Amino acid sequence: MKIIAIGRNYKEHAKELNNNVPKVPIFFTKPDTALLRENAPFYLPDFSEEIHYEAEIVVKINKLGKHIAKEFAHRYYNELTIGIDFTARDKQRDCVKKGLPWEIAKAFDHSAPIGEFVDKEKYPNINNLNFELKLNDKTVQKSNTKHMIFSVDELIAYVSRFFTLKVGDLIFTGTPAGVGAVKIGDRLIASIENEELLDFYVK
Ligand code: MG
Repeated sequence: MKIIAIGRNYKEHAKELNNNVPKVPIFFTKPDTALLRENAPFYLPDFSEEIHYEAEIVVKINKLGKHIAKEFAHRYYNELTIGIDFTARDKQRDCVKKGLPWEIAKAFDHSAPIGEFVDKEKYPNINNLNFELKLNDKTVQKSNTKHMIFSVDELIAYVSRFFTLKVGDLIFTGTPAGVGAVKIGDRLIASIENEELLDFYVK
């Protein structure tokens, strides 16, 4: 499986990192070794001094698809959760400055913790989902999928023009404003509609 992660899909987050609001979705990938499951602890890597959390709604692909039309995109997923797109912000800045690919900043081992999957039928509308991240009991990110620049179905349509989507692939749909650094001992709890789906420690 592969992980496809969308960048700058919430205006307020694009602004906080001084980026322009994109005209088409921006995406990158993470390998399967980036996954971190079952609330396992995240060990801070030794190559960065600035690991940032980015809470994101994650959609799981359940059907093979290429060139998926937006109006049929909803048939290609039936589960979702919340995950963290961990980012080595210092390395990312370096890569961007030098015009280099940013995989080392985004795709490293365990850079993609994911929560428990929930059937999408549980929610009336995927385009109106509240989600939240708490860092040590303080809310640091809180938004709603209605603030996405590109909806989940638009993302699937766009990404599938370039990459065949396969069963089990995950799409991280972008983070809202409020990103920040983690340190050893931090606890991260992420929820959708007030249901905690991900809860782990930084070690
Ligand atoms: Mg992200």
